[in-house]
Amino acid sequence: MTTIDYNELYLAGRWAESATRQRIAVHSASTEELLGSVPEGSEADVDNAVAAARRAFDSATGWSRWDPAQRAEVLERFAVALENRGAETARRVTMQNGMPITLANQFEAGFPAVLLRYFSGVMAQSPQEETRPGMLGGRSRVVREPIGVVAAIVPWNVPQAIAFLKLAPALACGCTVVLKPAPETVLDAMLMSEAAAEAGLPEGVLSVIPGGRELGAYLVAHPGVDKVSFTGSTAAGRSIAETCGRLLRPVTLELGGKSAAIVLDDADLSSTIESFFAATLLNNGQICWLGTRVLAPRSRYQEVVDTVTGLAESLQVGDPLDPSTQVGPLVSGRQRERVESYISKGLGEGARLTTGGGRPKGFDRGWFVEPTVFADVENTQTIAREEIFGPVLSVIPYSSEEEAIAIANASEYGLGGTVWTADPDRGEAVARRVASGTIGINAYANDPTAPFGGVKSSGIGRELGPEGLHSYQVFKTIYLDNHKG
Ligand code: NAD
Repeated sequence: MTTIDYNELYLAGRWAESATRQRIAVHSASTEELLGSVPEGSEADVDNAVAAARRAFDSATGWSRWDPAQRAEVLERFAVALENRGAETARRVTMQNGMPITLANQFEAGFPAVLLRYFSGVMAQSPQEETRPGMLGGRSRVVREPIGVVAAIVPWNVPQAIAFLKLAPALACGCTVVLKPAPETVLDAMLMSEAAAEAGLPEGVLSVIPGGRELGAYLVAHPGVDKVSFTGSTAAGRSIAETCGRLLRPVTLELGGKSAAIVLDDADLSSTIESFFAATLLNNGQICWLGTRVLAPRSRYQEVVDTVTGLAESLQVGDPLDPSTQVGPLVSGRQRERVESYISKGLGEGARLTTGGGRPKGFDRGWFVEPTVFADVENTQTIAREEIFGPVLSVIPYSSEEEAIAIANASEYGLGGTVWTADPDRGEAVARRVASGTIGINAYANDPTAPFGGVKSSGIGRELGPEGLHSYQVFKTIYLDNHKG
């Protein structure tokens, strides 16, 4: 197989050699073969990219000063260039992190362009300033301004969609961005770079610098950065928040989750099983908002355990490039070890395995783990408290709706979740009492028009919706004609 190799990085709107000779190699999640490599970014590259982003932002005629409609034209070209590379982007993501290709086509090939157009539309439709009559005789002009140079740091699990949750609003409102993709998914990042170059983003508006956590930490603390937007683990988020606290630097954090899928006693899970799969096991369990704690009423406990077990056993595990595959491999050997260690902990703490728990038969290569279900899990056990990030569900019994809500809320996290019921009003009443940034009734999907984000250790701030744009803006008040001279 020929590998995909790059010798230059997209730095400040141009292709340039990295300041180091180091390279990042990427391996296939399903075959473990070398897929390709890219130059690793260095601190000098970050310095140059931030300086160029600063110039593009601060200049009197730079990106931040353009009319939103002019930026929208460039972003439309970016969207088209991304769409033209959509199929290859999906293929590369699937090979790198094991995401089933049908999902990659939806999330990774299509969603970035949707987000670019959505946020350009929000800018076009919502007034960016208003003039208010004051109480002191004058008026105040209240203006939304772009916040400045943005450091965006993203994980490997849904690399393109997550990157554009940040890039699309930031670029649409006039910020400039230095993006650091995760080392596990740098090949799709190079396609994004190609699309940006083809679209003709002006110099300094965007840089894409692959690197590890040290480079990420360097970017977060860089004196030329005005705002940090991070998606990834809670541990990394805490460290980034500490840096931003010290620097008084605004930060948006989208972190881990351990959400509850609350099955009420009137639910007919089998009639919504596809939605239930998408809300609990999508992307091989490698999504932060999945409802990995399934709360089941004792009155129908065995039936729920049987349905969830049957679902896990019915899933087609295999080559993620095959459109019929529902569960692919995990991103890396390290991630599989992590997931397997949680399965051992579950067994050690007395949870009952109803299916899975091992590596699927017939795969001598690739980082596969069987879809796994634990029953009789107590909410205090490790597998119910910590994020596993693999295809592992825990079914937890409850006696009353009150107890279900209490269990759902007895978590360090609060990001996603679902309520399953025949009565949507009852579902909404329960949903309103769950401490979570988002929650679905009988399905879960992040709609671009509504804010997404977490409470508690799941993060700070919101992405998507107009709220997701506002986190890249600051208010400026200009007092008009209220002088008493
Ligand atoms: P990670 O936190 O280790 O890495 C994420 C990104 O941050 C990578 O680009 C990494 O290089 C960088 N990074 C790591 N430590 C850093 C630091 N101290 N300073 C600056 N940059 C740093 O997470 P991961 O293993 O790549 O991703 C999986 C985790 O991400 C899971 O825990 C998952 O819940 C979380 N996640 C959350 C969301 C969300 O929207 N809430 C979405 C996807 C993933």
